[in-house]
Amino acid sequence: MAAYLEKLNDRQREAVVHGIGNADGAVGGPLLIIAGAGSGKTNTLAHRVAHLIVNDADPRRILLMTFSRRAASEMARRVERICRQVLGDNAGVMTDALAWAGTFHGIGARLLRMYAEQIGLNVDFTIHDREDSADLMNLVRHELGFSKTESRFPTKGTCLAIYSRVVNAETSIKEVLKSAYPWALNWEEQLKQLFAGYVDAKQAQNVLDYDDLLLYWAQMVSDAELADDVGGRFDHVLVDEYQDTNRLQASILMALKPGGRGLTVVGDDAQSIYSFRAATVRNILDFPKEFSPKPADVITLDRNYRSTQPILAAANGVIDLARERFTKNLWTDRQSEQRPWLVTVRDEADQANYIVEQVLANREVGIALKQQAVLFRTSSHSGALEVELTRRNIPFVKFGGLKFLDSAHVKDLLATLRFAQNPRDRVAGFRLLQMLPGIGPQRAAKILDAIATDPEPLHALAEIPPPPKTGDDWPAFVRLLSSLRKAEGGWPGEMELARLWYEPHLDRIHEDAETRKADLLQLEQIAGGYPSRERFLTELTLDPPDATSDQAGVPLLDEDYLILSTIHSAKGQEWRSVFMLNVVDGCIPSDLGAGTTAELEEERRLLYVGMTRARDSLTLITPQRFFTHGQNAQGDRHVYAARTRFIPAMLLQFFETTSWPKVSAAASERRAQQIRIDVGARMRGMWR
Ligand code: ATP
Ligand code: MG
Repeated sequence: MAAYLEKLNDRQREAVVHGIGNADGAVGGPLLIIAGAGSGKTNTLAHRVAHLIVNDADPRRILLMTFSRRAASEMARRVERICRQVLGDNAGVMTDALAWAGTFHGIGARLLRMYAEQIGLNVDFTIHDREDSADLMNLVRHELGFSKTESRFPTKGTCLAIYSRVVNAETSIKEVLKSAYPWALNWEEQLKQLFAGYVDAKQAQNVLDYDDLLLYWAQMVSDAELADDVGGRFDHVLVDEYQDTNRLQASILMALKPGGRGLTVVGDDAQSIYSFRAATVRNILDFPKEFSPKPADVITLDRNYRSTQPILAAANGVIDLARERFTKNLWTDRQSEQRPWLVTVRDEADQANYIVEQVLANREVGIALKQQAVLFRTSSHSGALEVELTRRNIPFVKFGGLKFLDSAHVKDLLATLRFAQNPRDRVAGFRLLQMLPGIGPQRAAKILDAIATDPEPLHALAEIPPPPKTGDDWPAFVRLLSSLRKAEGGWPGEMELARLWYEPHLDRIHEDAETRKADLLQLEQIAGGYPSRERFLTELTLDPPDATSDQAGVPLLDEDYLILSTIHSAKGQEWRSVFMLNVVDGCIPSDLGAGTTAELEEERRLLYVGMTRARDSLTLITPQRFFTHGQNAQGDRHVYAARTRFIPAMLLQFFETTSWPKVSAAASERRAQQIRIDVGARMRGMWR
């Protein structure tokens, strides 16, 4: 037996070799691997891909999908490592060809561009992020006059959320309104019109939003011939974290591999945490039955290799109280005397201080910062900690938190590139045109109208008489777009072209132009990591890069840094030491939801996901008071908090409970005051 197979347990091995090298060729029937956290699902999947490659599968014909780009590239690295053991130096060539490893949305974007012509899509389509989508929704809403006549009409963000649910859950507006937005039921008719208008606008403007990437893909493969063609590109389709896929994603898979040949999906129903994006745990539970006459084979794993026994016991305790569950509890032989900590602190300032002390103490005993992570329910919860880490010069990386992408100047520059790529993109066009002196919203709209229907919008733009008061700026603008369009600067050279054009406008618009220019240089550096403008724009939108505490923002590569992450983004990962912030009612479960049973159950699973990231040490922290931001009319407020309801008294036996520190309340209050004053300024300083 090959060495890489020997390291696996029997069930993992069975999953790895399942159907490979059978009489019916190298492509086996459908397979589901369903098991709890840390049981080696992802590891098994990586071994399976490697095993396929070792057994002569063509890596260019393997489609491997998971939930983030980070997870996809980690998987590709694991595959390469295993292949190298067997194939030696040839392995690099083989695994470099693992080109179809990515997220559903990323892969969808690539396929849609490849097949654009066949499905009546302009190949230059641009992709709207949530904010762009909300802006477009707003434009349409204004055009239809809903915002004026109905003062309590749902906001643009809510409209988008409703639309997104309808699309992803393949259901009706009525159903979505009934289940999640009952107060908006009166507006069903208007919403129908609005969504129709929104879809028309997207098509006229040649833009796709997140949901469209799946929707168009599903539409594309609902055509039998195209499904054959797209599905025929891949001998094997493997999906990790299948419990977090939605109906559309499932229908795409079934269309790509109708009989399930070569299809492997992996997941854990107890870790399903994306129902707010219409993911449904039914996908994984119903997977075997999708195939007839013979259902998919199912392999379960029961041994956890990640966590020590006390950590696993506490996590099992939490998930045992869940209402519904398919996967069974796991066992581990990683013994330890140390139960997870449940630490009460007075407030968020103490929480930050406590973590910093513990993190440093861990480092003293040889646990590198990189092997430690701080997890939280919502991105904004780490504010006080980020301040404290910055003050103490402790480097950190915050997953997906590259805030500066949201800043006006970065969006301006990105809009420039986007408009060059797709001059029908109205949201980008509005933004860009209004940078020119003398052009306001109305004039911008006129210009965009004038070029909207021209087959060559940029030619049309060049022929427009220069608008009054634009002076030399107009011809310079037209020239810039034409050279960007022709990709004269090459990639990422055209970033520089755009930046040099933009900088004088930046000087005019913003007082702190110098710091903003530094951001633009940083953006240019990031752009250099992508092969083309199109890939850069697509991937930046779909999967924003991580933020680092380093002002220069360059990835810290070999340096040591602490990981900060939302629980959602920590999915699939593990660290030796894990801290969880604000493990209190109101944070987890979050008080932002409607509080339905389904929502509460999902919050419980979220806590379970967080706890099961820990290998050797787990610390849950419960501040007695914390700030919530802008959740009520008064804005920020102090809340007195109680330990999360998911750890009732009967579960306390699984924890080592303690409080920290033992100083006077007055001193703590003074310090809290101090930190509160610092937060805003420091945060601005960090992200500018
Ligand atoms: P999650 O549900 O959190 O995604 P998972 O089931 O995907 O977890 P992995 O991340 O694949 O689990 O594995 C968890 C840990 O267990 C990893 O450190 C992995 O290297 C280790 N592991 C998995 N299988 C084995 C094995 N047979 N022997 C030793 N270690 C293993
Ligand atoms: Mg995994």
